[in-house]
Amino acid sequence: MLKNHAAYTMRSTQRLGKVNSMKNVILTGDRPTGKLHIGHYVGSLRRRVEMQNSGKFEKIYIMIADAQALTDNFDNPDKVRANITEVALDYLACGLDPKKSTIFIQSHVAELTELTFYYMNLVTLSRLERNPTVKTELKLRNFESSIPMGFLTYPVSQTADITAFKADTVPVGEDQLPMLEQAREIVRSFNNLYGETLIEPKAVLPENKSCLRLPGTDGMAKMSKSLGNCIYLSDSADEIKRKVMGMYTDPNHIKVTDPGDTKNNPTFIYLDAFSKPEHFERYLPEYANLDELKAHYERGGLGDMKVKKFLNAVMQETLEPIRTRREELAKDLPAIWDILYEGSKKAQAVAAETLADVKKAMKIDYFADRK
Ligand code: ATP
Ligand code: MG
Repeated sequence: MLKNHAAYTMRSTQRLGKVNSMKNVILTGDRPTGKLHIGHYVGSLRRRVEMQNSGKFEKIYIMIADAQALTDNFDNPDKVRANITEVALDYLACGLDPKKSTIFIQSHVAELTELTFYYMNLVTLSRLERNPTVKTELKLRNFESSIPMGFLTYPVSQTADITAFKADTVPVGEDQLPMLEQAREIVRSFNNLYGETLIEPKAVLPENKSCLRLPGTDGMAKMSKSLGNCIYLSDSADEIKRKVMGMYTDPNHIKVTDPGDTKNNPTFIYLDAFSKPEHFERYLPEYANLDELKAHYERGGLGDMKVKKFLNAVMQETLEPIRTRREELAKDLPAIWDILYEGSKKAQAVAAETLADVKKAMKIDYFADRK
């Protein structure tokens, strides 16, 4: 089982170091189902900003996936609408720059829906039902007995999103690997049937293992907007402190002297994801690094409170500049809508070109020469 998973991961992912030889077009995005949290930051956002600023990518498309968010929030359009600007603010506060990256809204690129319709012919129902991430999400949403078609088919629409921009690089968290595998299968089927038209994308995962799927503050396997176990990028200093101090740790580490577990302990996983040597110098100089701190916890004699206080200092230092920039940007929401409007127009024009290629390949370009 594990071996298969490792092979699967190797096949469908690409680490940043090897990306240079690729054509270098990025597509990635987030669902506007809530503000973005530190799981998004380490899973994808931090990497996107690095890639953007590396100058190694020809084109970068960042999509706010409102149509996908509606597949499980169709009864709550207000929530989706309200979170468009929240997500955009999170992007800009983290350093995504509309001059370098095209930030756009999915529903405003109608071509994506048309592509989805054609790609549906290339996927079976049983293949969609086998998707492990979708399976988990269906359970979580109590959709199992009555599955909305839109939700079940969202991996197909995600394939349209990626291929519309001829993206070869998709920086995501680990939960997205099955989506990328599905996209690659659809691309291969399409190209086999209709001739080489679409680009096969690769996922780029975080290099740090703790960032692949950051757990929730409650110890649940994944920090997720839908689970309410998040530290948001926009949280106030007080909220961060309250959440860190209330975090789940090792339930068997009752007395300070008890040996503790650092592997399934979210406080240590967050330290893996966020702490740097200079944090130790500044806030915990009695330890040289995280390995020393872990070793002490594991042999006993180190209390959770001390670990949490250190983690709080690290999180405060990391999130303070993001929060400050976000507050500044939030003063001018019309400017945010302008960025999204311009980005959506640009994205639409690119997707229209791909749709034309697709229609030509599928021999349904009857009126192409009349334009
Ligand atoms: P929802 O609960 O609405 O699905 P979400 O928190 O899962 O929200 P998404 O918008 O679905 O967030 O995910 C956006 C991106 O962030 C994806 O690339 C996903 O892999 C990544 N991501 C989300 N949560 C985490 C996490 N806990 N750790 C690492 N990456 C994550
Ligand atoms: Mg999700």
